Amino acid sequence: MSGKVIRLRQPRPCPICGKPSTQADHPFCSGRCADIDLNRWLSGAYVIPAGPAEDAAEDVAAPTPDPDEDR
Ligand SMILES: [Zn+2]
Repeated sequence: MSGKVIRLRQPRPCPICGKPSTQADHPFCSGRCADIDLNRWLSGAYVIPAGPAEDAAEDVAAPTPDPDEDR
């Protein structure tokens, strides 16, 4: 048998800061970086591109009927 041990778990760098990740906070190096990643996901979920909603806002200005013309 050879003395070389093939590791199944490859140490991946922390996606936030690039430091080697720990088992406790995998795949991050610390809970702090895990928190940063979580905040990125949460903030990203709130970013919704405003599409047709802006066009509808312009239609709010409706023509006001003149009551004097009815008489
Ligand atoms: Zn990190």
